[in-house]
Amino acid sequence: MIKKSFFISIFPKIFNEILGVGIAKKAIDNGIIDYEVVNPMNFLDHKERLDDTTYGGGPGMLLKAQPLIESIDFCKSKANKKTKVIYLSPQGQVFNQSISRELAKEDKLIFLCGRYEGIDHRVIDSRVDLEISLGDYVLSGGEIAALALHDSICRNYEGFLGDENSLSEESFEKNLLEYPQFTKPRESKFGNVPDVLLSGDHKKISDWRRKQSLGKTFINRRDLFSKLEMSDQDIKILKEFLSEVGYDSDRISDLLEEI
Ligand code: SAM
Repeated sequence: MIKKSFFISIFPKIFNEILGVGIAKKAIDNGIIDYEVVNPMNFLDHKERLDDTTYGGGPGMLLKAQPLIESIDFCKSKANKKTKVIYLSPQGQVFNQSISRELAKEDKLIFLCGRYEGIDHRVIDSRVDLEISLGDYVLSGGEIAALALHDSICRNYEGFLGDENSLSEESFEKNLLEYPQFTKPRESKFGNVPDVLLSGDHKKISDWRRKQSLGKTFINRRDLFSKLEMSDQDIKILKEFLSEVGYDSDRISDLLEEI
């Protein structure tokens, strides 16, 4: 079944630009995904404003409840009553690959993008199923976050990626970051491709990749190790990696005790 997303935004042009190129365009052309952008401006009562000042005082303007709620209800009338509504918000749970996989199970999704100081809380109380954040920083609007979520979710859909294997090998799939990759030429003034990748020995290549993944994850994202089950062999190759990049043995022992 075709997967459909609705984006509610006061800046609809943003979506056509991003979804009109590359792999998303191909998936649309092939009937794998579809999308619709709904502008809350079209649901404004005559001469009403879309935004207004906040009760209780404070800087900036808020998007009003009525046009947002009517936009959501319009999307639901085209999708179905139970379609999940995601409000992109810095106050939401932080998005990750496991949320992405869960959301990919839905046939339809509605993404609500805030602007200015955000949205009237009555929208969240009455219509929003999930508040999701892109990270611990504040953006000027939800559009970039909605497109980031959508991009990530689409990658889980059957048929979206040309080569299904590319998903299973990617960063976060096994709570590890992906190993370094190289393409032609094998030698250049910027350095040479590691010999092991040219050896044709699949076991050696896979061991090398595991070691690089463990090492890179350890250095950049040690938090992921709490979700990772490491074998004795993993610990051995991680120690080797750290030693190769210049950690001394006392420091390696201290660091490994922390994970
Ligand atoms: N006043 C809000 C607060 O402090 O929580 C921030 C409003 S922000 C300037 C405007 C809109 O950008 C939000 O309504 C939301 O849709 C979007 N936004 C900002 N940061 C975001 C983030 N980290 N993740 C997802 N959406 C975000």
